[in-house]
Amino acid sequence: MLRISTVTRISLSLTLGAISLLMTAHFIGLVPDVGESEGQNRRALCESVAIQCCVAVQKNDIATLRTLIETLVERNPQIVSAAVQRGKNTVLVKAGDHPTADESASGDAPSGTVATVPIFKGHKEWGRVEIQFHPTHQEYLTARFGSPIVPLIICLGGMIFLANVWYLRKVLTYIDPSSVIPDRVQRTLDTLTEAVVLMDKDERVVMANEKFLRLAERPANELMGQRISQLRWVQEHSENVATLPWVRTLRDGTSEAGVILRIAGSDRHEQIFAVNSAAIFGPDGARRGALVTFDDLTSLEEKNAALVELLTALEKSREEIRAQNDELQFLATRDPLTHCLIRRSFFSQVELAWGTDSRRRPPLGCVMVDVDHFKTVNDNHGHAMGDRILQHVAAVLRAGVREDDLVCRYGGEEFCLVLRNQGLAAARATAERIRVTLLSTACEGLYVTASFGVAVVVPASENLREVMEQADRSLYASKHHGRNRVTTWQELVDRGESEMRPAETHTRSAAETCDSLNPISLKAINALFTALTQRDVGTAEHSRRVANLCMVVAQDLLSERDCFILEAAALLHDVGKVGVPDSVLLKAGPLTADEWKVMATHAELGSELVQLAFGCDELREVIRTHHSWFAGDPRMPHLPSGEDISRSARILSIADAYDAMVSDRVYRRGRSRDDAIKELRRCAGKQFDPKLVERFAALVTATSQRPAKPTQLPVSVATHAPPVVTVAADEETRMLVESLQAVSEMRQSLAETSAPESSRPAVPTS
Ligand code: GH3
Ligand code: MG
Ligand code: MG
Repeated sequence: MLRISTVTRISLSLTLGAISLLMTAHFIGLVPDVGESEGQNRRALCESVAIQCCVAVQKNDIATLRTLIETLVERNPQIVSAAVQRGKNTVLVKAGDHPTADESASGDAPSGTVATVPIFKGHKEWGRVEIQFHPTHQEYLTARFGSPIVPLIICLGGMIFLANVWYLRKVLTYIDPSSVIPDRVQRTLDTLTEAVVLMDKDERVVMANEKFLRLAERPANELMGQRISQLRWVQEHSENVATLPWVRTLRDGTSEAGVILRIAGSDRHEQIFAVNSAAIFGPDGARRGALVTFDDLTSLEEKNAALVELLTALEKSREEIRAQNDELQFLATRDPLTHCLIRRSFFSQVELAWGTDSRRRPPLGCVMVDVDHFKTVNDNHGHAMGDRILQHVAAVLRAGVREDDLVCRYGGEEFCLVLRNQGLAAARATAERIRVTLLSTACEGLYVTASFGVAVVVPASENLREVMEQADRSLYASKHHGRNRVTTWQELVDRGESEMRPAETHTRSAAETCDSLNPISLKAINALFTALTQRDVGTAEHSRRVANLCMVVAQDLLSERDCFILEAAALLHDVGKVGVPDSVLLKAGPLTADEWKVMATHAELGSELVQLAFGCDELREVIRTHHSWFAGDPRMPHLPSGEDISRSARILSIADAYDAMVSDRVYRRGRSRDDAIKELRRCAGKQFDPKLVERFAALVTATSQRPAKPTQLPVSVATHAPPVVTVAADEETRMLVESLQAVSEMRQSLAETSAPESSRPAVPTS
């Protein structure tokens, strides 16, 4: 059904009122008649024409008459045509398209007013002038509408109506609707905690409560009639106005609830609102506008943000506490130097890994590790370096096992590994892999080796500590069978050594090695070596290196017994130097020929000392003959040559010469390894056994910077070793040291006498 809006209705009634007034004015003659004045003008014109025509007729001047008529038509645009007629049909003069009497009678004449004015000659009517006018505006309107007032009413009425509509709409926009809202309604709205705004369907604010005015930061009179979407604070934060909830409500009639809008006030303080909007419908069901509420969540959101911040801080401090706990836990269970497990935490973890149910017990590989000759590292390079080496060893051990295996620092330089789910073969393989890695990885240029003992916890194992004891004893066996090796408990059982205590294993090994070595032999070696260290630490270090080189070459070539003798010989081959006077022994520069002669006696003295100490002929022979030339030396006919020189002495000769060449001396820098090997090869066949030189070269090149096979003898190069008398605590060693001192004194006096002429060997020997 067509609905006429209020504005239309008001406009219509105003228009009708205006029309009534106009018609009233028209009827009482207040509206000027334009048509009347126009008729008067025409009449005056006709009269004037008639007078002029009369004058021309009086004079019978038809020509003037014609000119007059033509000029009349020509000059007056409102005149269509004019003619002078005599009688009924006689046209004397004509101008324009003047209709004939017949045409006028038949109605074919053009529309318009025809004025007829008589022409008198004397007192008689002579003829008449007809003037055809264009119809006047008045006549046109009258002809079309019946009365000229009708179009005036229509036109004026229409215009008044449209003007009213426009004006009313405009005016209504600015009328403050709040003024028509009863106070009590406004007060009720103001009591609401939410900001409320009522808008028409064009989003113009019709009514708003106090909260909303505060929110919009405008007074009510400014806000009314404004489009809410155009308010600065809304537009700033709405990229797309169509997404605003009330826009959707006005467009689709949907209700929106809890839409979050962020609004920045003039102080740039951001406010957050939950916006609800609902459509307002008229009685006809059409959408008239929307009611929008703004629930201020700013303080809630701020509290939420503060809470989140607090929670984050809490979480962070919890993380820190957790990290600190982890660190504390780590410190409590780890050794501070190597970061391996300490024994207490190790055992508790092993117990866990071992489990209580013997049927479900997984196999556990147990590996005991002990760094070889670690005391030597401390003695030669200081404890700080020793500590770094221990860290290095621990790192190699950790890298060699899996994440869930256990690495414990069991003692000073002893470690214990527990390898989960590893049987004997796997644990042995792991130990072997670690051994090789350690052997070939340097720590600050130093290489160390370690000995390994492996035992395995099988499901039937009753006592975990017993298995560790087996691994420990296997480790001792590794030590006493040459170090830098892996021994399993099974191997010990197979060799029948499993019943021996570690000390017995050691004693038996030493005893079997050389029949003539009594149980104090190792102590004696240690005492002699300590004496040498006291006398000349450089020579002691050299002896240790030579012993290592000998072990590299002798491995798989000599029997274990011969290896043991060779190692002892290498360690003690220069022990005769204790008898060389300081002036020669510690001379900072090349020796003179005489000094060389004194120096050459040390091999002899060394063999005497060794014989005195051990009574072991083989040992003495190796030391005595290690300067023999392979092709024989005519200057030393008492020494053997070729195959008559024992293989041990031939190996010692090469290792001794090699180390002398590569070592720095006070008066010269050591040669490179390649140079030294070249020199060995040059003297091969003459001074050295050529086959052994090649073997030596190949092994030394292959091991590169790696240390030689570690020695079996637990002697160390102690730069700060205690005085010999202190070391030689027991009776036999004390006697040995006393004789050493006697020999030393004897040699001092010998140095003053000259020795027979002899030349230096091709390769320097120490
Ligand atoms: P072997 O091959 O027979 O095991 O010889 P070794 O020298 O390694 O054995 P020994 O038991 O004679 O010496 C172990 C040395 O380890 C003695 C001790 O001074 C040293 N040591 C123990 N704990 C530490 C440590 O934490 N730091 C350093 N630098 N040295 C340590
Ligand atoms: Mg140890
Ligand atoms: Mg050790």
